[in-house]
Amino acid sequence: MRIDKPPRRTSADRVLEEVFAKHLVITSAGALWSPNSHVAQELRQAIHLHRRVLVSKIEDADIRVCPSHDLHRREWRWEQGRGWHCGVCERLKEVC
Ligand SMILES: [Zn+2]
Repeated sequence: MRIDKPPRRTSADRVLEEVFAKHLVITSAGALWSPNSHVAQELRQAIHLHRRVLVSKIEDADIRVCPSHDLHRREWRWEQGRGWHCGVCERLKEVC
């Protein structure tokens, strides 16, 4: 009997999970924007380390880097082969 291992989570995946769970805002340059909230230094460093991954997720309009869960959630869509993405972030990307 063969048992497939679940896909291995990378440290970039863990950063994306943290960014999503804490509703952190990442700029299009991959920098953390958190003027009024405390973010642990370890997480700040991890965000900086994985900024290129974060920027690519912003370009893909991935919901894990959506800056406004409350306002955009109605336009979160699942697409096979692409995963969850935000329709509002996708439109904003076109005008910015
Ligand atoms: Zn969004």
